[in-house]
Amino acid sequence: MREIVHIQAGQCGNQIGCKFWEVISDEHGIDPTGAYKGQDPLQLERLNVYYNEANSGNYVPRAILLDLEPGTIDSARSGPFGALYRPDNFIFGQSGAGNNWAKGHYTEGAELVDVVLDVARKEAENCDCMQGFQLCHSLGGGTGSGMGTLLIAKIREEYPDRIMSTFSVFPSPKVSNTVVEPYNATLSIHQLVENTDMTFCIDNEALYDICFQTLKLSNPSYGDLNHLVSHTMSGVTTCLRFPGQLNADLRKLAVNMVPFPRLHFFVPGFAPLTSKQSAQYRNLNVVELTQQMFNERNMMTACHPRNGRYLTVATIFRGKVSTKEVEDQICNVQNKFSPQFVEWIPNNVKTAVCDIAPKGLKMSGTFIGNTTAIQDVFKRISDQFSAMFRRKAFLHWYTGEGMDEMEFTEAESNMIDLISEYQQYQEATVEDEEDAFDEGREEQSIVETH
Ligand code: GDP
Repeated sequence: MREIVHIQAGQCGNQIGCKFWEVISDEHGIDPTGAYKGQDPLQLERLNVYYNEANSGNYVPRAILLDLEPGTIDSARSGPFGALYRPDNFIFGQSGAGNNWAKGHYTEGAELVDVVLDVARKEAENCDCMQGFQLCHSLGGGTGSGMGTLLIAKIREEYPDRIMSTFSVFPSPKVSNTVVEPYNATLSIHQLVENTDMTFCIDNEALYDICFQTLKLSNPSYGDLNHLVSHTMSGVTTCLRFPGQLNADLRKLAVNMVPFPRLHFFVPGFAPLTSKQSAQYRNLNVVELTQQMFNERNMMTACHPRNGRYLTVATIFRGKVSTKEVEDQICNVQNKFSPQFVEWIPNNVKTAVCDIAPKGLKMSGTFIGNTTAIQDVFKRISDQFSAMFRRKAFLHWYTGEGMDEMEFTEAESNMIDLISEYQQYQEATVEDEEDAFDEGREEQSIVETH
């Protein structure tokens, strides 16, 4: 058994987290009371990755729900699958974080973090052989971002050899009008670079654009955005939840996807895109799915992969599809767009097929890309950060919680470094590597002649 412990923090984290549990419970035949009502043994085979089995025979999400105020947790408890969660795993404070990363990371959140660690430890101890943790949170607020990253650091300290994976929601002014979000996001990214093994970058800017342009929703709600998120989360976790060989656990996925430790920020994508209202049975085929999956309009991070290069890619096709056809189509994409894939990582596109389609669709495709184009997102946040930080605007809210300005400076430069690392690998070619090797050899021979 290879279990994952799931944690959801803050308003956004809890809202997308609960959607995730609704969708996967449905896929695995678990009803809102935790009873198994399915008919397919494949649903049960790896259920223990995400669920504990209670003495009653019911299935309980291995989930910890956490917030610094009670509201969102109350909604989770009274939501459609609220009775599913273990009551001891609801942890909340009363104060709130007021969209202030410092409150989440250093003051209010720091007071509650040990309670969360106790519950996490209990879940970990009950595991047979835990793979690691996954955290759902937003980067723009105070709890999910500030306390979420504090928790990551603490868990990392206690479980240094387990995988830490996050679903991190990046802020966009198109969706939220809290001005300090670029501060909170930058401070968080500074932590994620060092302390996670992989981060799925779910960007509200991209979700908004998909809702507005593709799904023709003139005024998208969080429910609409989260519908896209839940499909994506279900997609990227398919190989962890159903039997199969490729990327079957968090570590295997990380090994295939992360060529350099800091460059672990993934662009997820999903096809076909359908609105909540129109989950109609579209007559899709593998060719169309593949095209959509590699189309930037289907990606959940606002960047332009065509302008960057893919270090690595994983794709997951679901439904009754022919493996041969899938392989042919993926091969086609690689040949047609070969300059978009770095040539110095051979076979950098991996493909998995899972027979079980998501609910309401005959087939679907999920995309996970590690592309240098993701620097666009970090640049966007960095520009917004710098504009305010130059004038030290709103800084007193953070220093008032005891933070040092230095941490802002360090976070800013860490993100700028990250951008240039992506750029460096975007420009790297096989010839560069050979040149570097030759130079090394020359130096060596000079040393030898002396
Ligand atoms: P926290 O409770 O202190 O962690 O703060 P929030 O999670 O409310 O963080 C605010 C950020 O999260 C903003 O960028 C919001 O746009 C975003 N956000 C809040 N709720 C949701 C949600 O349900 N879905 C999505 N996609 N974004 C959300």
